[in-house]
This record gives sequence, C-alpha cells and structure tokens, in this order.
Amino acid sequence: MTKAFRFSLAISPIAILIALLLVSAASASAQTSPQTLPMPSWVSAPQASAADKQNFPPLLLQQLSAIKAAALSDDYAYHQLAHLTENIGPRPTGSAQALAAAQYVAGELRHLGLDVRLEPVTVPHWVRGAETAALVEYPSMVPGATQKIVLTALGGSSSTPPDGLTADVITVDTFDELQALGRDKVAGKIVLFNELFDKQKASSGQAFAAYGDAVRYRGAGPRAAADLGAVAALVRSVASADYRLPHTGFSFPAGIPAAAVTAEDADLIAHLAAQGKVRMHLTLTPQKLPDETSYNVIADLKGSEHPEQIVVVSGHLDSWDLGTGAIDDGAGVVIAMETAEILQRLHLRPARTLRVIAWMDEETGGSGSKAYTTEYSADFPHHVAAIESDAGAAHPLGFDVKITPAAIDALHPVQGVLQSIGATVLQPSTSSPGADITAMSDAGVPAFGVLQDSRTYFNYHHSAADTLDKVVPAELRENAAAMAVLGYALANMKEPLPR
Ligand SMILES: [Zn+2]
Repeated sequence: MTKAFRFSLAISPIAILIALLLVSAASASAQTSPQTLPMPSWVSAPQASAADKQNFPPLLLQQLSAIKAAALSDDYAYHQLAHLTENIGPRPTGSAQALAAAQYVAGELRHLGLDVRLEPVTVPHWVRGAETAALVEYPSMVPGATQKIVLTALGGSSSTPPDGLTADVITVDTFDELQALGRDKVAGKIVLFNELFDKQKASSGQAFAAYGDAVRYRGAGPRAAADLGAVAALVRSVASADYRLPHTGFSFPAGIPAAAVTAEDADLIAHLAAQGKVRMHLTLTPQKLPDETSYNVIADLKGSEHPEQIVVVSGHLDSWDLGTGAIDDGAGVVIAMETAEILQRLHLRPARTLRVIAWMDEETGGSGSKAYTTEYSADFPHHVAAIESDAGAAHPLGFDVKITPAAIDALHPVQGVLQSIGATVLQPSTSSPGADITAMSDAGVPAFGVLQDSRTYFNYHHSAADTLDKVVPAELRENAAAMAVLGYALANMKEPLPR
C-alpha cells in the first residue's frame, strides 16, 4: 500500500501540472488580464501551523537536522553490529552469547555516559541438536535410494528418539484440510503443512502481510497435528526466497518433534505424496534445558526538564541460532544505541528521559518484555512514547504507528526533517508496531516501529543467511537517523505527544 501510495503521488502531480499548463495557456490566449488561478495545495510549500511552531521551535528543528546529518555520516551502529554478530555471534535466548551481548551492550552504553541497568529476565533455554531427514519410501523409488530432506528444528521442538523415527508423511495446505482428514488418517503420521508464502505480496511491499498469512502454520501447526495424534510436524519454511535454506522460528510447544523444511523439499514431498505413499526417516534431537537468568539492558539518558517522562528507543538482542542475527535484530539494537551516541557526541541533552532498551527474548516468548511490564507498568502513564526497530535494516520508509490522528498531525515537522531520506510515512497500525512494546502500546503509550523496505527481509529472516553482509551500511545509517530524529523529537517537543 505504501508503495502504491507513493507511486500515485509521483504521477498525479505531473498529470495535474500538464492539465494546469493547458488550462493556463488557453486562458492566457483568451484573456488579456492576468488571472490568479487557485493554487492546489501540492504546489505550495507546506506551512507550519501555529501548533507546529509551538511544539517545534527553530532551535529544536536545527537540532533535529544536526542529528540527522550526524547519523548519515556515522558508522557507530555498523561497528557495533559487526561486534554483536561476528565477535559475539548468534544470540539465542538462554545462551552464553545472549548473556555476553547484554553485558557488552550495557558496557558500551555505560561508556557513553548513560545510567545503565541489567534487569534480570528468566528465559527458556532450548538448544538445537542433530537434524536430518530422508525419504525412505516413495512412488517409483529406485531400490536402495533415499532422498535427503533439508530441514531445521523449530524453536521449542521436542526430540525424536536418538536414532530417529520413521513414519508416513501426509501433506495439507490448510488447517481445514487437516481437520477434514481427522484422527484416523493423521494419527501415527508426520504432517507437512505446505502453506505457500506469497512472494508477489512480499515483493510489492506487503512482506509482513505475507509473513502473517503463512506463519500461522509454523506457530500453531505442530500443536494442531499433535492434537490429532501425529508423531511429528513439518512446515514449509516461511520465507520469500528459495535457496534450499530452512527458516526456523517459534512454534507453540506441541510435545512432538517439529521442523521447517525448505520450500524445495516441501514441493518434493507434496509432489511424491500426490502419487502415493511417502515415508520419512526423521531425526531431531534438540533439548529443552532448565530456564536461565538473562537480562534486558535498560540505559537512561536523563531528561533535563522532565526526567520522569520517558521515551523508549529499542530493539531486541536475542536472535535465532542459525545465523548471526544481523537483520533480526542486531540492527534494531545498534540504531537505538546510536541514538544515545549521537546525542552525547553533539552534547544534546533530551528534555525528557531517553531510554535505550535492548530487549531479551523477543523470539521465544517475550519474557523480557513481560519482565519490563511487571516492573514498570505503573509508570506507563509517564512513558511518552516507545519506538522499536525489528523489521530489518533496509532503507527506512518512515514508521508504523499506533498513535492518535492528533499525534500524527503533531509529527508533521518530524516528517519534514526526514523528508530528505524518504522516511516520511506514518502508517497507522491497528496492533502494536513492535512485539516488545506491545504492553506499552496496549496501555495507550504512543508506539512506533521503524518501517523498513521489507521486500528482501524474509529471504534471510530466521535462516543461516541472516548475517552482517545483508546489512547495507548506508541504509543502516538512514535507520539510525530515523530513530534518532524521532526519538529526540519525542523527547523534546514542548508538549508530549497526545494520546
Ligand atoms: Zn525480531
């Protein structure tokens, strides 16, 4: 929708301009007296309203421009991302790397001069084991042959016996198909959910809608299969590119082994199963270990005028274990860190408290967000706004927002500052624009998610290919600019954003 909107804006002024020129040429030839044509609003420069001027005095606008310029020439975020992804590495919830990442980010923010706390969070600890599969019986099989199936366990999956299990595979496209088969046909089988990811939707800019359509099967499929007696569940990887890479992710614990197969292998199984009986030997040996204590990193740059009022800038520190968590979501953490770094470097003191949060455990249940809510919900009325970036690191288009129409109006000057990098969209959302800020958003705190170009995000998301090279430094700088400008604006507008 965003893209179509921008396209129509690009075209219609030209059409209108041509029409206007024709009209004015005709009227000039017909009349001798100069005519004042009514000016359409798009011709004139946007006028700052009285409220804009009140909320964003000239000094604040200058500061916002300086912050943007600083971000666009600053590789602080990229260097931090390189450290998180390459020196620390994958940061699955409960792992030593996730803990080290929290300690590292806390140290870096302390070094910037922020007031930093590591706040404990009890997190699940699940570790991947062996994961192999092969088709051992299928129509017209060459005697003695097998076919390798590329897959990866879903987070929280149960284990097969150490030497695996063998069962018939049935494929379904929808939950309804599964229910129609019923327990008789499902019990004792491996169920493959073969829901397609709508790549055209993704490439047209609606990647999160495409993800939402398909990810239901990853989340709820294994439990639905288990409820009908299945011995294991497979889902087609929820992804927008097919390079025979499996994409993991959270799945509600179902008490049976559960894995994501590559799109290619899902097709293979579905094609063969349409011809006749298919049997698979499946080995998955992940382990659920005892819960661990990990941490949210909470770092305050105290407000000079309203220290009790808080603006949150955030991303999540934990990642999946297959890649190194560059786009999901090291990028979100480092651009939030850079907001603080720029303000300190430019000696800009926020009027309200700017709070950098590196969330723990977004991926496997949100225990970090829940811990924050337990600790701070009484203070949510003083949380003026919350921003999270958790949609990658590609070019920012603006923000997904869950704020009132009056609040959107109040942010026109911010759109003006961000216009030169194209990050002007304020796209109203009916749900929280960030998973970790959901409780705040539900409590009425104005909530923002950085809206990135997501066309390639799900090519890599939750796969072994989520690595530093997928982040374009210039685009990361734009994201840092968008978050820092909005964060400082929210902290320094004269009136807090209306709720
Ligand atoms: Zn994420």
